[in-house]
This record gives sequence, structure tokens and C-alpha cells, in this order.
Amino acid sequence: MVDEDQGRRARNEAIFREVNERIVELETGLTGYNRDDSLLIGFVCECPREDCGEMLEVTRGQYEAVRDNGRRFLVLPGHEDGDIARVVERHSHYLVIEKTGDAAEVAAEQDPRT
Ligand SMILES: [Zn+2]
Repeated sequence: MVDEDQGRRARNEAIFREVNERIVELETGLTGYNRDDSLLIGFVCECPREDCGEMLEVTRGQYEAVRDNGRRFLVLPGHEDGDIARVVERHSHYLVIEKTGDAAEVAAEQDPRT
């Protein structure tokens, strides 16, 4: 079972992930999938803090690489949630985290791409 606090944090992340899916849809609608992939797109941080909502910029290709795995999320450095996720990639202006344990199950279940 997922405890209440973990469940709430997972829902926040799922909401931010949905927002980002809309952002990428809009970008794709306007310009198509730009294969040169140099264009930075502003996404919202997918950390579990309800009051975050900060922006980070990655390319479409970097975003897609994270979204390929339903357990992975994009967050700002310092916004990782150490007890339910581990950092799998560190970049200068963003991190890729991967959920572990129960939180990973919730994240995978709520994956908008499955
Ligand atoms: Zn954040």
C-alpha cells in the first residue's frame, strides 16, 4: 500500500506531468517535431511540492527521453525527493529522477502514455 503522503505527492507529480504533456502537444502543433532539436521548451518542474510550479527548459529530445520511462520525472536541481526517488541524470539546470518502490508503481500506473 502507498501511504497517504506518498500518494498525495505522486498525484502532484502526475498533475505536473499532464501539464507538460499539454505543453509538448502545443509545441508540436505549432512547429512539428523539430529534428534538429536545438529548441528549448519551457516545462514545469515535476517535483512533488504543491507550491513549486517553477519552470525548467529542456529540448524536445531531452523531454522525450524522460517520458519514455513512466517512472522518470524532470525536476530542478535541489527539488529531488530523496526518499522515494533516485537521481539518474544530473545536468546543469535539471535532473532526471526515477521513482523507486511504491512511488514507482503509482507513477507507472498514472503514466499518460500507457
Ligand atoms: Zn520543483
